[in-house]
Amino acid sequence: MDGKTSFYEKVKERLLRYARVDTQSDPASGSVPTTRRQFDLARMLRDELTAMGAADVWLDEDKCVLYARLPSVRPDGGGRAVGFVTHMDTAPDAPGAGVRPWVLEGYDGGDILLNREQNIVMRPAEFPSLLTYVGQDLILTDGTTLLGGDDKAAIAAVMTAAEHLLAHPELPRGPVSLAFTPDEEVGGLARDLDLARFGAGAAYTLDGDHLGFYEDETFNASRAVLTLRGRSVHTGTAKGILINAADLAGEFLAMLPPEEKPQTTEGREGFYHVVSLQGACESARVELIVRDHDRARFERREAFLRGCAAELRRRHGENTAELAIFETYRNMKEVIDRHPYLVENLTRAIRAAGLEPRSLAFRGGTDGSALSHRGLPCPNLSAGYENAHGRFEYVPIRSMEKNVEILLRLCALFAAMDPV
Ligand SMILES: [Zn+2]
Repeated sequence: MDGKTSFYEKVKERLLRYARVDTQSDPASGSVPTTRRQFDLARMLRDELTAMGAADVWLDEDKCVLYARLPSVRPDGGGRAVGFVTHMDTAPDAPGAGVRPWVLEGYDGGDILLNREQNIVMRPAEFPSLLTYVGQDLILTDGTTLLGGDDKAAIAAVMTAAEHLLAHPELPRGPVSLAFTPDEEVGGLARDLDLARFGAGAAYTLDGDHLGFYEDETFNASRAVLTLRGRSVHTGTAKGILINAADLAGEFLAMLPPEEKPQTTEGREGFYHVVSLQGACESARVELIVRDHDRARFERREAFLRGCAAELRRRHGENTAELAIFETYRNMKEVIDRHPYLVENLTRAIRAAGLEPRSLAFRGGTDGSALSHRGLPCPNLSAGYENAHGRFEYVPIRSMEKNVEILLRLCALFAAMDPV
């Protein structure tokens, strides 16, 4: 299957159309969803799913979560239910309005002129991933916005697979659930996905770069806030009395191990990372994030921070230092490992599509990290985009075609299994 498949035109047309819809989310917004414009794509997808004959198509008009189902085609109505979860929003890191996607056919391995007027060029010298797609057709930006292939390349693949399955009831499938969620890029963690309505007992997110990659392992993640209280008096008569909260913040920063920062770690090494620091004599506040794949090591990191706060209190007095820790998400692996068929089926499907499955311990979290711990085990399959969150984002059309094939293979594998 190395020529263009029958899915080529479908995934191309879909990504070009979805990319033009501005669905940027907003981390500063307190509303749900964070931006109303995400409904524009949700309604478009709802109408498309209805037209292709999907069942139980329903858009939650409060939360902006879209649901649909494909019923089993087995004569006994059986097969194991499987779901696919993709996100509709695009990242706030680059402009998301006025996206003008275009297709470069047969990429020759050279520099790509994205925008003639502004002389914006994408060079393989800066983005070497381009060289893995020589000869392929690429969907690109005009260099002034992101593309939104994250995650619309995945939506294009899921929609095309759903359409194909509905048009071909002779193809094997058990019950298939689809969900399209808002606000992934701003830490939404699919919080408003109603698992009862979704229906499937296991699912895959499709997100992430590089075709053929998958993730069943993410960080454990917390946010910690250290509040420091000083005692301000006139500096001329301060000896033995004044406590400077800003100095306490400095003492705390000096306690953090310098070799355990994002800039000094990789692979499965965890870290502490200061995300904000404010302070004066009266009070100071340090906010940091804690990350580690390993649960025990992660808990030791949280304990270490508590120990730092206790040490500051010991040095400077009760009430000078107070630490609060908030859970962000947990490594999905401890949940996924209890359901080994999820990764087995996924890697079989990737291989059946002619690719070598590849996996890394993901140094971040996915919606699936949270969903897995809510009871929906949910590994991640790459969506196949490249250079996400920026103006040099692009999507090889073949990567979307391959993902359609992987989804169809997955559905067949689940159809052959017994219900849970
Ligand atoms: Zn994404």
